Amino acid sequence: MIRWTMAGALAGAALMAALALAACGAGPAGPAAERTGPMQDDQGEKLVLTDAEWRARLTPEQYRILRRRGTERAFSGTLWKEHRDGVYVCAGCGQPLFDARTKFDSGTGWPSYFEPIDERAVETEPDRSWFTVRTEVHCARCGGHLGHVFEDGPEPTGLRYCINSAALEFRPRRRHDASDDPPRD
Ligand code: FE
Repeated sequence: MIRWTMAGALAGAALMAALALAACGAGPAGPAAERTGPMQDDQGEKLVLTDAEWRARLTPEQYRILRRRGTERAFSGTLWKEHRDGVYVCAGCGQPLFDARTKFDSGTGWPSYFEPIDERAVETEPDRSWFTVRTEVHCARCGGHLGHVFEDGPEPTGLRYCINSAALEFRPRRRHDASDDPPRD
């Protein structure tokens, strides 16, 4: 009887976890070998590191999300409630990914944007984990897993890039400085 109850509780917990993840995140990480790393291009712009190098470079949480397709719990990250003006860069390689001007409050507990800062900054691929098909989003430069994109976002794109805080770093925008202007004749 006790064993039966525990089994039910465990099944319930697993279902709850699956439902929570369905909102944004990926399921448990698959074997690292399944991932083909980012392709080296002729320009040498891609950042390709070994697994050991990524482990050394990233915090354990960043590594879990970026390199193992992990997902942080909703409302647990540091950036879903970040409202300052600035740019969000990849925590793996520093490439600018999202502009604060495209961020909106999705109510999901993950930072959400209606478009990337540049269409070439991110890449997508189908993610068939957790009995559903979602569109995974990763950094085009280092291949780091960022989150997923859904078609229920606000105008003007109708897209919702649902991104893990741990995959990003926020860089506040400097106030305009006249010295930044190009010299005028
Ligand atoms: Fe990156």
